[in-house]
Amino acid sequence: MTLDLMLNRIVKLVPNLSKRDLQVIYFHEVTKSAGFSYNMININKFKRNMEYLIKKNYNTITFEELNDPSEFSNNKDRKNILITFDDGYINNYELVFPFMKKNNLKFNVFLEVGAISQNDNYITWDMVNEMSKSKLVGFGAHTFNHVDARYITESNLEEEIINANKLIYQRTGLIVQDFCFPYGMYNTGIIQLLNQSEVYKRLYTSDGRRLYKEQDLSLIGRVGIKDEDNLDTFKGKVNGKYNLLYRLNRIKNSRRKGYNCEVFR
Ligand SMILES: [Zn+2]
Repeated sequence: MTLDLMLNRIVKLVPNLSKRDLQVIYFHEVTKSAGFSYNMININKFKRNMEYLIKKNYNTITFEELNDPSEFSNNKDRKNILITFDDGYINNYELVFPFMKKNNLKFNVFLEVGAISQNDNYITWDMVNEMSKSKLVGFGAHTFNHVDARYITESNLEEEIINANKLIYQRTGLIVQDFCFPYGMYNTGIIQLLNQSEVYKRLYTSDGRRLYKEQDLSLIGRVGIKDEDNLDTFKGKVNGKYNLLYRLNRIKNSRRKGYNCEVFR
């Protein structure tokens, strides 16, 4: 039995202790060829996953809608889901956007700001504007140079955070209030710094932590969707069954790879 299969059986047996009002999932790239892990998901598998959300009448939301939770939390009959993509790859525009538009599904992209319109693998500002105007796509920030946020200090805060957000505003008119940690790395220092700088309202991690408030900032845990996930695993992930398991796995893997992972709390 593969480890994935074993984990699947285990999560089916345990009660769902870490269910949330809002489940948050993340992807990176989408491809017509074979996918790979969390980095790249095959487009047909991605569509199969989205079709499950449609069938189950999930309410997909954008960052903007999070500013007024009453907008989506009133309807208790529908489960809410925030679909996010990290970095801003060109295939998010070429493959994801047309499919989502056709099905009226919303999603969000965290921009590696310095790569936008600068690198062929990434979307352009025109694409950001087109997606933003559709009201189906929300945008967040992911630093300017995709740096490990634990190494952001007073000296590069200006470049990585302040100026990155200014550039997004200049090119799109969007005031971005959502931030995702590159590599999922963070510590108390960067959270305090971001809290003081008052640029963002919400910080997103790449682990399955629960939602909680730290001073004026919300820390929001996400669960990653891999190419290898079958539909059952996907269902479990969007239903919150993997939140706790995912968080434990994440901590274990970070330690094993030798990251000095100072997980906040
Ligand atoms: Zn990233």
